[in-house]
Amino acid sequence: MAKQGKYQKFIPNEHQKSVQNIDFLNLYKMGFRALLIDIDNTLVSYKEHEPSAELITFIKGLESIGFKIVFISNNNQERVGVFTSKMDYPFICSARKPLKTGFKKALKAIDHQNRAEVVVIGDQIMTDILGGNRMGFFTILVEPILRKSDILPTRINRKMERFFLKKAKKHNKALYESRFKTYEKM
Ligand SMILES: [Mg+2]
Repeated sequence: MAKQGKYQKFIPNEHQKSVQNIDFLNLYKMGFRALLIDIDNTLVSYKEHEPSAELITFIKGLESIGFKIVFISNNNQERVGVFTSKMDYPFICSARKPLKTGFKKALKAIDHQNRAEVVVIGDQIMTDILGGNRMGFFTILVEPILRKSDILPTRINRKMERFFLKKAKKHNKALYESRFKTYEKM
């Protein structure tokens, strides 16, 4: 579906309930080869420090499909370092999404320059989706695992999100229903 309207940079290409609901095999068939994955409230809540064995197996499964994987988080080295310590994938911490710098570093870390083959997955419109769209990536919004665990900067972003969602609801109801409705209710 084509992105439309003046808020197009905030609109994800796809919306799913969770990362586990994404059809990765189909993404691979569509030609995507690299996954840039957010951590906080996308893979685990802010309260969880380490990935479960189940989550590690899931991520390894994505690698065996053929994807290059890199974690990209606005959180600090300590948080991201602990989270990724049991896995052998590159990560970018303090990425400052939605700015382009962190995304560019992520591409470099996996030695992948073709932006049309990149998927970014995250739970925030103002960082993951806006940033990913600006880079020309395919963007997938997932619902935050535990919204209550959001840290302060995220809570501020959520306020902007609500403003944007209100606009989307008012000006483009069909789009709102298809991409955001369940997201907002979580
Ligand atoms: Mg997040």
